[in-house]
Amino acid sequence: MKISVVGSGYVGLVTGACFADLGNSVICVDIDTKKIARLKKGLMPIYEPGLEELVHRHLKEGNLTFTSDLRAAVRKSDILFIAVGTPPRPNGEADLSSVEAVAHTVARELNGYKIIIEKSTVPVQTGEWIAKTLRRWAKKGAAFDVASNPEFLREGSAVQDFMNPDRIVLGVESKKARDILSDLYKPLKATLVFTDIKSAEIIKHASNSFLATKISFINAISRVCELAGADVEQVALGMGLDRRIGRNFLNAGIGFGGFCFPKDLSAFVRISEKLGYDFQLLKAVQDINEDQKRHFVRKVEEAVWNLAGKTVAVLGLAFKPNTDDMRFAPSVDIIASLQASGAKIHAYDPHAMEKAASELKNVRFFKDAYAACRKADCAVILTEWNEFKELDLGKLKKMLSQPVIVDGRNLYEPAKMKSMGFRYISMGRI
Ligand code: NAD
Repeated sequence: MKISVVGSGYVGLVTGACFADLGNSVICVDIDTKKIARLKKGLMPIYEPGLEELVHRHLKEGNLTFTSDLRAAVRKSDILFIAVGTPPRPNGEADLSSVEAVAHTVARELNGYKIIIEKSTVPVQTGEWIAKTLRRWAKKGAAFDVASNPEFLREGSAVQDFMNPDRIVLGVESKKARDILSDLYKPLKATLVFTDIKSAEIIKHASNSFLATKISFINAISRVCELAGADVEQVALGMGLDRRIGRNFLNAGIGFGGFCFPKDLSAFVRISEKLGYDFQLLKAVQDINEDQKRHFVRKVEEAVWNLAGKTVAVLGLAFKPNTDDMRFAPSVDIIASLQASGAKIHAYDPHAMEKAASELKNVRFFKDAYAACRKADCAVILTEWNEFKELDLGKLKKMLSQPVIVDGRNLYEPAKMKSMGFRYISMGRI
């Protein structure tokens, strides 16, 4: 099939490369001309396992191309995915101006039946706005369908997730669109869930909100565990073995971040409010998440007494492992709070330091965890990279000027750390 994917970020680039791998002819479009020029040379704008190899292969085979010319791409395609960013406005609402701009250009270039598909995460009723925009600006009688196909891939395993989804949600309103999208996704042999467009839009917001709720729930439990002298890891295991609950997303820590959960939660709260519902549960989820970061900073402060003039070695900056994405990473707020109390920050992350350098001020970056810890008053762990699970802790201890680790991701066994002579503080465990 002839496909254009508009927006070549984490979602668009992975979607484009994977559809090329499934035998389609794909044009990836982006407004960022520098990004496109680099992609044409096979240079990746993001770190994502397996993506570079796919892009190189299909660039060479000629079934994956890159352009900034959206108008030409529209004319050459039968299926158009909109995968542009939908960032939060200051009031939490999703900023849909890029979605509208794309819909407007697509409308003007419609030269035969096409399906225009929302892949970006958008509030319910966005599909109606896209259809209205297309009707308003397309030539009379232009044939099209709008569909919703929310994306559930996770950064860090995006290619793997795209190729092996738990389900594919397709909001469609015509048999033609349903048939074409069934064929498009057939090679994945995945469960297809067909719904109306509005329900598909809500499925995405509801899914992310539910996962964020699980995280805040276990973080709240971890606070009770700390006060009562219980162990949240044992609690999570005991709860998670109940199949109605499940163990996933029951990891206590410093709270969720990234480009999806915080903004999708805010957008869902806002759209619910606009529709007339005060989503108090999700507001509590947000509050717990913010408080968890403050709680972590208090732990660091308690561990070193006064932060002023102390050096804190931060291990892990990305919002989660296997990605270089720093957008809304908890590390950004936590580092800012530590600095506000006078701490100097030495940092190391296996992949996110380049992106972090533009987000963080007055931070010194180091080539590995040991170098970051040299002469530091304590180490704090903010991202659960596998590399940190395998650190030589004896060597790390020698580097630190005080053997103190505050672990926001519960990577190590408290008893073992104690026996090694560390003062080890983690989340929801004694
Ligand atoms: P991103 O910022 O990495 O990529 C968006 C791209 O769109 C950028 O390269 C930008 O230059 C481009 N763009 C913006 N306006 C454009 C326009 N008018 N024409 C062409 N290109 C334009 O964002 P992302 O992480 O890929 O997210 C995209 C959407 O997918 C968002 O709605 C997000 O919520 C959703 N989503 C993201 C993830 C994820 O893990 N990142 C997962 C599922 C869904």
